[in-house]
Amino acid sequence: MSESRKEIEDFVRPELAGFVGYAACKSPDAFSGRVVKLDANENNYGASPRVREALARFDGYHIYPDAVQSGLRQELADYTGVSANNIVAGSGSDQLIDLLIRLFCAPGEEIINLPPTFAMFSFYASLQGVRVVSVPRDEQFQIDTIGVKKVVTAATKLIFIANPNNPTGTLVSEECIQEILELGLPTVVDEAYYEFTGKTFAHQVDKTPNLMVLRTFSKWAGLAGLRVGYGLFPARVAEMLHAVRDPYNVNAAALVAARESLQDIELLRERVRLIASERERLYDELMNFSWLKPYPSQANFILCRVFQRDAKTLQAVLEARGVLTRHFNSPGLENCIRFSVGRPEEDSILIDELKKL
Ligand code: PMP
Repeated sequence: MSESRKEIEDFVRPELAGFVGYAACKSPDAFSGRVVKLDANENNYGASPRVREALARFDGYHIYPDAVQSGLRQELADYTGVSANNIVAGSGSDQLIDLLIRLFCAPGEEIINLPPTFAMFSFYASLQGVRVVSVPRDEQFQIDTIGVKKVVTAATKLIFIANPNNPTGTLVSEECIQEILELGLPTVVDEAYYEFTGKTFAHQVDKTPNLMVLRTFSKWAGLAGLRVGYGLFPARVAEMLHAVRDPYNVNAAALVAARESLQDIELLRERVRLIASERERLYDELMNFSWLKPYPSQANFILCRVFQRDAKTLQAVLEARGVLTRHFNSPGLENCIRFSVGRPEEDSILIDELKKL
């Protein structure tokens, strides 16, 4: 082997040499004993029982899934009130974030991001060599619309607004989003937690040519493990997304499960209501701790600022006791911890463990 022979990593795109991946949640399999999973904004009621039955009956695992997603898109049209021609499903809404950045942004171009927010927007942009232009939210995690207008350049191709926002739980006003839409730039309103608020821009998709709305089955329908989300797009964008996506991007089990969930909507909505009212109970409980400041949330989790203690240590101590949570320590989220809203008995375990500290 000659001295000058390159190592395999020397062939890797140099700009990815220092790429730091997404800090994904740990699998409960990594733990023994009691595990209360409050770290990834999942739905601890699980999927609809009808999903389990439908998957047990399903006998199409040996054939490729429906490449045009026709049944699911039609049922989503009924659910959202938006035509099936405007709908594209993805392997989680994560995949649609990735595809949108690839569709709109060439390397060197820009997205506008409103941190603190969902990390996958900047993750996929960076992976694609797209610049992330950040306009930080204010202390209440509201959007600085003037700041957004200031950073727009000829290279701006997409604006991402998570509403309600993750990890803060904040909902921004309709007027604020409207103001951003008036810039005329392609704008993604990520409504992963829509079902917990009922506030949506879905009905504006057909009359707003630059608006795109993302949704997921991971939260309200409890299908995070099957990876299925969807978006509502201007018809031409939907057409182009269908062209660039993997032909079988939503697997057969995910298609069955998502469609069955839409058939069991009353049960799932009832669980969403339980989670929303439990969120208020958990919020009130958290308010009783002098060293925690919970932020009001419109989603299925609550972010807290931690005082007099280190949030990272707190997360580790809770984890050692089988309660999984997520801590943050980035600009705007200094010394914070986020608790997903679980079932009441799970949240009570969290509260009891916090009281022991
Ligand atoms: N957007 C936001 C704001 C989220 O919080 C999440 C999930 N954490 C997603 C998108 C991705 O959801 P999915 O599981 O559908 O990929």
